[in-house]
Amino acid sequence: MNLTIEVNNNTIEAKQGETILDVLNRHGMSVPTLCHMKGLFPTGSCRMCVVEVEGRRNLVTACSEPVMPGMKIKTHSSRVIESRKTIVELLLSNHPDDCLYCERNGNCELQKLSEDLNVRERRISGTKNNYKLDVSSASIVRDPAKCILCGRCVRVCDEIEGVSAIEFVGRGSKTFIDTSFNHGLNLSTCINCGQCIMVCPTGALKEKPHISEIKNNLSDPSKTVVIQYAPSISVSLAEEFGFQPGHNIIGLMNAALRRIGFDFVFDTSFSADLTIMEEASELVHRITNQGVLPMITSCCPGWVKYAEEFSHDMLPHLSSCKSPQQMMGAIIKSYFAETEGLAPENIYSVSVMPCTAKKFEQQREEMTQNGISDVDAVLTTRELARLIRMHGIDINKLEPELADSPLGTRSSAGKLFGSSGGVMEAAIRTAHYFVTGKEMVKFQVKGVRGLEGRKEAFVQMGDLRVGVAVVSGLKNAADIIEEVRNGRSDIHFIEVMACPGGCINGGGQPIGADEDAIRARMRTLYDIDEKDAIKVSHKNPYIVELYDKFLGKPLGHKSHHLLHTHYQKRDIF
Ligand code: SF4
Ligand code: SF4
Repeated sequence: MNLTIEVNNNTIEAKQGETILDVLNRHGMSVPTLCHMKGLFPTGSCRMCVVEVEGRRNLVTACSEPVMPGMKIKTHSSRVIESRKTIVELLLSNHPDDCLYCERNGNCELQKLSEDLNVRERRISGTKNNYKLDVSSASIVRDPAKCILCGRCVRVCDEIEGVSAIEFVGRGSKTFIDTSFNHGLNLSTCINCGQCIMVCPTGALKEKPHISEIKNNLSDPSKTVVIQYAPSISVSLAEEFGFQPGHNIIGLMNAALRRIGFDFVFDTSFSADLTIMEEASELVHRITNQGVLPMITSCCPGWVKYAEEFSHDMLPHLSSCKSPQQMMGAIIKSYFAETEGLAPENIYSVSVMPCTAKKFEQQREEMTQNGISDVDAVLTTRELARLIRMHGIDINKLEPELADSPLGTRSSAGKLFGSSGGVMEAAIRTAHYFVTGKEMVKFQVKGVRGLEGRKEAFVQMGDLRVGVAVVSGLKNAADIIEEVRNGRSDIHFIEVMACPGGCINGGGQPIGADEDAIRARMRTLYDIDEKDAIKVSHKNPYIVELYDKFLGKPLGHKSHHLLHTHYQKRDIF
């Protein structure tokens, strides 16, 4: 039912059941928020979004207050602004004064609120927090001293990921965010997804930095430093340099990476094609040999750790394929090293990932050959942007360049890995070919596309009717796993990504992107697929050559040794 309300003396339409904040946003008006998270139940705890409602003695929180017919609202009265300003001053009263050194300087919501509300002096002095930095995790650094207790990280960890690695601890002014029993994040159930970083308004959460180590290796003449970048990076890095969301800057990125000093530049979409060759073969083998079904993808390291901790009964369902990052790492230090006449120990292998969990994956013991890591360091998209700026490179002035061959050549199926549903679509295309000996008439599998947290489809492959499901956000994964446990048997293959929408919205991507930006990134990946000539992994000529010259056949002895792995049950507190 529609109703009318008055906002700042203007009459506007509202719908029954909407909150004041919903209505304001729909009409292009804004009030500041801190604890609010779109799509999650409002708590109104930070009180930053307060507005004045005629007839009400106290200010009300716009995020949680439903609209009523005839409501008269003031969003920026003196009383409202003073109240918001006081909240910010209180938050600043015990906040560390080290903005100039902070990761989020220039991109901090607290800093912006302070600026917007014209906070120009310290009227309230509080005792500074003395919390320890938690650097125990391979992926995430927590700085509780910078935390303003908005609770967003706790909610995303619990309500989107279903992990609950962090929680409010203590009471009153002694409240802080911590892991169970005050153990470091590395001993918690944290799956390293980085979604908490994406929602944190301040610098209280950030990725574990790898830039210094990479710089040291770049200046070591004994090292050949190679870099690979994940399929989604070229469509998200652009935003760090002022381009429109979804703008594809792959050529400029290749050029920038060479200016920084990387000796070889490779595209992880190549090893995404390789993953598909192995994974589609594994799927067909399982289906035709009564193997464990449904098979579940294993390229998301956040999901893999979640399965090891919370769903170890599902580990036999996980594909044994390493992720594209690790496959590329293994191929670089074997096939590439051999063809270039390089010793694997003299290759320093870097990857750029949309993901903080990749920093954890890279350090897993299983991801080594003869004591040498497949991948040596991982940069997030944000860190790559920082590295480019650090080198004084004006990306706008570069001429586009191609990645190095052969490990920089991909099909468009490999590129689709960047979006939720992309691995599935790429795998279906190749599995169809393996089963029927024919290409699909139409390559698009519309049922697995889009940003929804759960998608299902059925695909005909000759006489086989294959059921597939795609989930992102591990709360959604938990639901479908429960269905499998309860005997659901019409689904043969499940793609799981920890981050909602997949890698285009990974925990290492630029901070502050809204849903429109994520959609724009996704659209670009599908546009690339639409335009490219080679749409299936098994037709990538360099993949064919890699099998001919080096690997033999998918699931063969060499592939098994280099490209497959195993998982382990992990105990949790
Ligand atoms: S990285 Fe993911 S799992 Fe770990 S605390 Fe943050 S949201 Fe939770
Ligand atoms: S760590 Fe960040 S997201 Fe979490 S409560 Fe503190 S300020 Fe909010």
